This record gives sequence, structure tokens and C-alpha cells, in this order.
Amino acid sequence: MQTDDDLVWRCQYCGVENTVWVDLTVADKQDFIEECRICCRPNRIIITTNLADDENVLIESRITDE
Ligand SMILES: [Zn+2]
Repeated sequence: MQTDDDLVWRCQYCGVENTVWVDLTVADKQDFIEECRICCRPNRIIITTNLADDENVLIESRITDE
């Protein structure tokens, strides 16, 4: 069983792809802020894992309202 992974998310400001390490053993929704490696603007990252299905990991990025 896979317990961690690097997931790809796209910056909502400049469109570049970033990667983030994710602990897949966390069952709950993960919601945190990551800065883009190119434009350094904060993106809100939301990860949803389904422990019943290793392949079912969803990642989305959103613009932060700051
Ligand atoms: Zn960016």
C-alpha cells in the first residue's frame, strides 16, 4: 500500500505545475497553503484521499483570498 506520494498541482496565478509531498495515511481532507515555486503566490491546496481505494487521491488548487 502506498503511504505517501508526490502530487502535481497547477498554480492558479501563473499556471506552472508544482509538486507537493502528501501523506496518504491521513484519512481526512487535507487543506493547506503552498507557495508556487515560480511566482511565490500562495495557493490553497485541497487533497481528498479515499483509503478504501489507493488510486483514488484527488488534489485541487484554488486561489486564496488574502
Ligand atoms: Zn505561480
